[in-house]
Amino acid sequence: MNIAVKSPFEEKKANKLQSTRIAGKLVNDYWEMVWRAKEEGKLVCWYEGSAINPFLEAADICWVHGEAYSAMLAARHQEGTAQRVAEERGYMRELCSYARTHLGCAVSNQRLRGDNAGATPDDDDLTWKLPPPDMIISAYAYCSTGQQWDEMTSRVFGKKIPIFNVSLPWIWGSKPDAGYLRGQEWEETSTYVERQLFDMVKFIEERTGKPYPWDRLYSMMADIRRASELRLEAMELCTAQPAPASFFDWVVSIAPINNLPVAGVKDYFETVLAEVKQRVKDGEGAVPDEKYRLFFDGIMNWNKVGWLANKFAKWDASVVAGRYTHMAFWQEPSLIDPNAPVRGMAQNYLICPNNHAAPILIDLIMGLCRKFKVDGMVIHASRTCRAFTNPQFMIADTAHKQLGIPTSMFEGDVTDESFYKDELLNSRVEAMLEAIEHRRMVHAA
Ligand code: SF4
Repeated sequence: MNIAVKSPFEEKKANKLQSTRIAGKLVNDYWEMVWRAKEEGKLVCWYEGSAINPFLEAADICWVHGEAYSAMLAARHQEGTAQRVAEERGYMRELCSYARTHLGCAVSNQRLRGDNAGATPDDDDLTWKLPPPDMIISAYAYCSTGQQWDEMTSRVFGKKIPIFNVSLPWIWGSKPDAGYLRGQEWEETSTYVERQLFDMVKFIEERTGKPYPWDRLYSMMADIRRASELRLEAMELCTAQPAPASFFDWVVSIAPINNLPVAGVKDYFETVLAEVKQRVKDGEGAVPDEKYRLFFDGIMNWNKVGWLANKFAKWDASVVAGRYTHMAFWQEPSLIDPNAPVRGMAQNYLICPNNHAAPILIDLIMGLCRKFKVDGMVIHASRTCRAFTNPQFMIADTAHKQLGIPTSMFEGDVTDESFYKDELLNSRVEAMLEAIEHRRMVHAA
């Protein structure tokens, strides 16, 4: 069987959600706001990992999410300068490329204010533009690189910036009562993180010199809870065949739910949900001729979101769900009580998909595969992200054993394009699609 037929197959493109274009404008407006922060006299906090941004936004502190900056540079194909600067400084290529890119930005930023003070940088070069931090907060689930990245940033800035660390413990899930959102370990871990978030608020109060505006946080979390419900409802509708939106649409929708200003996010997901509902009604798919339904495991390669969406569309393959998009980012809105949201926020930070022991993680992934009726799984082994790649062989093995579906693994990276090998992806996905065809023939016989 020849899956990769040329014309007119080659002309097929992903039928992207129109509403996700709004996300592009929201993202641009947000970064413009960040770049202006110092002129506007705002305090700036750099942070990585968990979405602690509502705590900062409520206190009128400008927030900079390191991964988001690296992802934005990669999506615009402007990450090269930052990565080169980081390598010149001694950060090796195997270091998480989110961290490497962001640290390159920190080094550039320091050079301009130190050795090169007075230099006029190129305004199109985004490596230097981040406002330097007045504080750093680290709240990374599981990954030790994430946790150390903030310490490295602190060193780049001469260890003069106050730093606060929130420890999000790995959920071992080994006690008899343990499970997803249940058991003694879950409750104790939730309490442990909740207590630290209250301490983090004291740290914020010390920086601003003002009492913390809890009412603003409550109102923001009510909006985030609603936005999250809308997003999950829209995702759920993608169980329809053909799926009205794909994993790649949900990748584009990560910034709004994860780190953009809260005002506007609820409206954005209302628009997305309305479009998804309309598509279900019209029988319109994210892939024009959906023939295969796939699950995507692994973190995204931000240089290639649209490009991969089109590539899978050419194979008539709709990537209907993924670990990165469907298991994170205010994933459990019902845990958030808008009048007392801190515990629910702590719990949402804990259920990041690289913070669970393998049995819980794999069980959740298999559940998604069943719900979305996938025919196969494509696994992105991100070269510089061990946290996501660690369990991938076990995930593939379980998908074969429990669901009987084929899987294919390809190498790439979050923001370093050089690790991506197009031919490997092509040959492995085509082999997997052939295996799916074979399985269908056997079942039909
Ligand atoms: S290695 Fe992976 S999980 Fe860790 S900071 Fe980088 S992208 Fe995040």
